[in-house]
Amino acid sequence: MKKKEIETLLAHHAEDRHAYHGAVVPPIFQNSLFTFKDWDAIDEAFDNRIDRYIYSRGKNPTVKMVEEKIAMMAGGEKAQLFPSGMAAITASCMHFLEPNDHVITIKNVYGPANNLLTNYLSKKMGITTTFISGKEVSAFAKAIQENTKLIYLESPSSAVFSLQNISEIALLAKKHGIKTMIDNTWATPLYQQPLAMGIDLEVHSTTKYMGGHSDLVGGVVIGKRVDVDAIFHHEYELLGMKTAPMEAWLLLRSLRTLPMRLKQHQESTMKIAQYLEGHAKITKVNYPGLPSHEQYELGTQQMNGYTGLLSFQLETNDIEKIKAFFNGLELFLIGVSWGGHESLIYAPAISYLKELSPEQFTAMGISLGDIRISIGLESADDLLNDLEQALALI
Ligand code: PLP
Repeated sequence: MKKKEIETLLAHHAEDRHAYHGAVVPPIFQNSLFTFKDWDAIDEAFDNRIDRYIYSRGKNPTVKMVEEKIAMMAGGEKAQLFPSGMAAITASCMHFLEPNDHVITIKNVYGPANNLLTNYLSKKMGITTTFISGKEVSAFAKAIQENTKLIYLESPSSAVFSLQNISEIALLAKKHGIKTMIDNTWATPLYQQPLAMGIDLEVHSTTKYMGGHSDLVGGVVIGKRVDVDAIFHHEYELLGMKTAPMEAWLLLRSLRTLPMRLKQHQESTMKIAQYLEGHAKITKVNYPGLPSHEQYELGTQQMNGYTGLLSFQLETNDIEKIKAFFNGLELFLIGVSWGGHESLIYAPAISYLKELSPEQFTAMGISLGDIRISIGLESADDLLNDLEQALALI
């Protein structure tokens, strides 16, 4: 039979319905342990514990089914689910790093990841980090030290939507024996395949598009079997970063509609981004799908689609006017996170200034008037009208 399309694979891959009485939706294995018929059976399971169901802090069938679907989608040998995106990021950093190692990452990396490196792993393990804009490959080369063990990318970044040249950076890292990881949450494996570009490990917050319904928190790590198995043994099972079967099951439900949801997010967001770009009260729109994006060309080379999170800069820096616009929206809900069915609005300054110093915040290239919106699955015309009436309030 011909190779199947991704929509078909996401519907059926890794699901053996006859093993569950033909149930079209698999059951949730909501159990803490698995039992065995005799001594030899449990003894044999312990010989091969990496792929056996023994105790749900380790492997669980509901979790495994989702891992197999995601590994297939990302073109990775294996995937490991995590209870959050931050757990996946923490586990990946700890997997690659030894005490006193050095990391290179981008200035506008997701705030808590910055915090993990600069305030936690630095104190606990003596990790040092160099932050660069990430736009020039030469800057990565320049930042390499003798103890550099990890290059951590986030492309597009969810703060300012800047890109990094994934293939060239992966090549550079390999030449120096440095491991690479990327936060690929924005693009998802459907619109960007970093493993095929030479990246060692891909991490996601599945809370965003993969989950898509704003009813779960989760993360995933995808890569080579050797890395993912080591992460399973150490950071996942030993440190107890267990994924709830219920959350995995919700994610399984969501993955079936991911391609269709992304198409809609992309179509609506393109329309809204173009509208915002032409608005007199907006000075800049940050969206990699717009030809005006300074790295648009690079985006077309390494992505095959664009999702629904973007930011724009209001002309005014007057906080009262910014608040009037923010509070004047009727359809955009006020909240953190993104990638769900609902449209959201947020001003990064609100939380980043609590986590980062004003200098770190400015260094990330963000200002008070920066507004971030996540375009949901409502009608694009309704969302556009909502933005128009709120912008008229400024
Ligand atoms: N990476 C990015 C780009 C994010 O935006 C987030 C959360 O907002 C995370 C990682 C962390 O994911 P989680 O909230 O699932 O821990």
